[in-house]
Amino acid sequence: MKNTIKAIVKNESKIGLALEDVSMPECDDESVLIKIKKTGICGTDLHIYKWDEWAQKTVSIPTIIGHEFSGVVCDKGKNVKNIQINERVSAEGHIVCGYCRNCRAGRGQLCRNTKGIGVQISGAFSEYICVPETNVIKIPDDIDDDIAAIFDPLGNAFHTALSFGVIGEDVLITGAGPIGIMAAKICQTIGSRKVILTDINSERINLAKNLDIKLSYNIKKNTLESIMELNNMKEGFDIGLEMSGSGKAFNDMIKVMNNGGKIAILGISPTAFEVNWNEIIFKMLEVKGIYGREMYETWYKMIALIQSGLNIKNIITHKFHFTDFQKAFAIMKEGNCGKIILEWS
Ligand code: NAD
Ligand code: ZN
Repeated sequence: MKNTIKAIVKNESKIGLALEDVSMPECDDESVLIKIKKTGICGTDLHIYKWDEWAQKTVSIPTIIGHEFSGVVCDKGKNVKNIQINERVSAEGHIVCGYCRNCRAGRGQLCRNTKGIGVQISGAFSEYICVPETNVIKIPDDIDDDIAAIFDPLGNAFHTALSFGVIGEDVLITGAGPIGIMAAKICQTIGSRKVILTDINSERINLAKNLDIKLSYNIKKNTLESIMELNNMKEGFDIGLEMSGSGKAFNDMIKVMNNGGKIAILGISPTAFEVNWNEIIFKMLEVKGIYGREMYETWYKMIALIQSGLNIKNIITHKFHFTDFQKAFAIMKEGNCGKIILEWS
């Protein structure tokens, strides 16, 4: 096996990333070594690229970035029992302590000591990565490497969309980024009554239409009230999924929720914003924050739904060889894309 490999590294305290030679990772007794085949670029990677306030606080230099991936197991530690060499895999990118109250209760997603692959520890934008066996997810034969590489954001969409019962309900999703579009697709597939998706970028609305999200609207051209009228909705939305990170989107959403409605918030706002709490109180709304994926129930349901026909292929709009990562990040910065895949072989 090689001694050095290629990886995309945050190596300086300024905007940008570099392709570097790094040492081959060595797995401990509980980990597997994975040869990376495909990786997805996440908004988090773009934050690290831009070196914004959050990135400067969170990421130490140097760090190999990236956490959305699929690959093949090529080595394993002596205590690894359930994963075999040559298996196709992806992995949950949150490494949890296994010991805090929530971990011991089987609620890993609520661990107080979580470390993120490609954020606090070495990431997947690399020819090889070591991951603890506990985090490895086998990819069934009928799911391809591209889709498996975006399990992480698809899992965000699933976690949010399945937070409340959406079957037969009217659902408002604010933000038609890749995750909002995938959440809309999930709600449509599992049987919501109306699924209304909004954005302020017409390119994103077009992308949503490519994935057959019929009721997607540019909120700059229509108010939520006029969209409701257009769709013969009188009482308001039962479920809201906030996926834009915009304070305005959230405050607009609570205005059009029905009494007793439920809101799951995934979108991360770059700055704190004011909330009209009285609207939440008098309507008796339920509001829930969402982080990551449930360990590992989200993974189970996501894989099951893809195998039973959920088609999100068109969310992938660009593919580049990893050596062209600068081109990929330039497109990410413009925001007129769906998911971008980097290919590693
Ligand atoms: P994205 O940035 O690609 O998409 C966000 C979309 O929201 C953009 O298309 C933008 O035009 C749109 N938007 C902005 N203002 C709006 C408004 N007022 N109304 C409607 N739409 C508006 O992001 P993504 O990758 O799809 O992720 C969605 C959100 O989830 C982001 O905020 C991201 O940071 C966050 N996120 C959270 C977690 C978590 O675990 N909580 C994980 C991944 C991503
Ligand atoms: Zn823990």
